[in-house]
Amino acid sequence: MLPIERRQQLLKRLKEEGALSIAEISRRLQVSEMTVYRDIKPLLEERVIIKTSGGISLAPISKTSVNTCNYCLKELNSRHPVQIITNDLNVEQLCCPHCGLLRYKDIEKDVSQIICRDFLQNSTISAKMAYYLMDTDFNLNCCQPQVLTFESLKQAEQFQKGFGGVVMRFEEAIDEIQKRMNGAAGCSCEK
Ligand SMILES: [Zn+2]
Ligand SMILES: [Zn+2]
Repeated sequence: MLPIERRQQLLKRLKEEGALSIAEISRRLQVSEMTVYRDIKPLLEERVIIKTSGGISLAPISKTSVNTCNYCLKELNSRHPVQIITNDLNVEQLCCPHCGLLRYKDIEKDVSQIICRDFLQNSTISAKMAYYLMDTDFNLNCCQPQVLTFESLKQAEQFQKGFGGVVMRFEEAIDEIQKRMNGAAGCSCEK
């Protein structure tokens, strides 16, 4: 059996049986304990599984996963995330302003704050106060149609001179994204 196959087997059993000891895994998969340790190392590093007193078990799935976008469910690795803080103090993470604005529109009544980053300085700004630049030649490689967020109108316009696009305010940007998506319920992100 290949290591990858053993890992799949292992995950399947952990799912069905909960925790398993290393000795137990070694017996079932008919490999040495050394091999088991080697197999599980990457799974431990990726936090797919955790060590417990009895051996190992699957990592609990946290309710509000911080690793995926709350709107398009894509993995969060963007440099331009948006955060929404709800009235009951839940923090939602969105991959980019595109998803931030669409998510905001979905749960508008429950939103206490929506926060984004200034595109150039990476400083934290209130999304409602930000300037949005749409249709620039600069590609964030996230969701389409994309918008870039700026704290000051001056900087948005300077960026616009170099890369083109249209500057909008918060509400305008939401309307425009929704319009371009033809009222589709989902997100046009490439998943
Ligand atoms: Zn997203
Ligand atoms: Zn995105």
